[in-house]
Amino acid sequence: MSILNLEGKCALVVGVTNNRSLGYHIAMALKEAGAEVLVATHPDLVAKAQKALEGVAPVYGCDVTDDTSLTNLAQKVGNFWPNGFDYLVHAVAGGPARGELEGSFLKTSRESYLRTQDISAYSLIALCRVLLEKLRDGGSVLALTFAAAHFHSVNYNIMAAAKAALEANALYLAFAPELAEKGIRVNALSAGPVKTLSSMGVGGFRDAEKVGEMRTAFGENVSGEDIGIAAAMLLAMPGLTGQVVNVDNGISCCGMGSTITEMANHQLGWAAAKR
Ligand code: NAP
Repeated sequence: MSILNLEGKCALVVGVTNNRSLGYHIAMALKEAGAEVLVATHPDLVAKAQKALEGVAPVYGCDVTDDTSLTNLAQKVGNFWPNGFDYLVHAVAGGPARGELEGSFLKTSRESYLRTQDISAYSLIALCRVLLEKLRDGGSVLALTFAAAHFHSVNYNIMAAAKAALEANALYLAFAPELAEKGIRVNALSAGPVKTLSSMGVGGFRDAEKVGEMRTAFGENVSGEDIGIAAAMLLAMPGLTGQVVNVDNGISCCGMGSTITEMANHQLGWAAAKR
């Protein structure tokens, strides 16, 4: 049973590929909490997402880089919820050309830099604009980001720049009069590493996952389910706007004091605690 009660709330989650996607876990947590959920995904992925979300949410196709596709989505959302909806989740990322999520940042091409910004960052502004009329007063918007926007994270390269832009977009949307006058809160959730199709596309993700694990307070990374529940809570949380909230089992506040031996002992401690 969910710890939240979102009965009567309506939520649109944008960006689901399969049952590993963070968008999927967020849709599940919102549904579990009693919200009515609608999902939008890239048109090529509708059948796949529908399969994962059978009985949970209808799935519409939308390419966030295409204005006509965005307008069509807004129209469909308006038809589905004539009285509007409450929560918008941005769980979309993409754009880097093959090989650009590894090695030197210097080789980043202009073309894929712009495409990555368009898909992964500008899309938040575009979605808010087309859906503004349908978002009910007091609603909220949540975008998914990653700590690489602030700290160098090997191979994250071009996507780090997109996440930095996404976080700035969320902050400025929180203060945009069109949203603020409706009392709509805008935040970002910075998730710890979770295995998904997108994250596996980052060079050396498995190593990063292991290092992340060592920096957590508990000896293990967050799960997709953790992110789903946290997202549902942040969407509903009054007073929270313009924020980036870390949901990462403590990775983001783990300092540099530890020696390798201390790290190893810390791990031994987790192992002992788990026995
Ligand atoms: P995911 O399952 O691959 O979800 C990303 C989704 O964005 C995919 O469905 C992808 O479709 C979609 N997308 C790409 N281009 C699109 C377009 N033009 N129009 C519509 N949709 C498009 O991976 P995920 O890890 O759950 O990612 C969800 C969000 O969480 C992303 O913003 C990601 O950066 C963020 N995040 C993930 C982690 C992690 O460790 N997994 C950590 C922090 C933040 P395609 O498959 O067709 O490209």
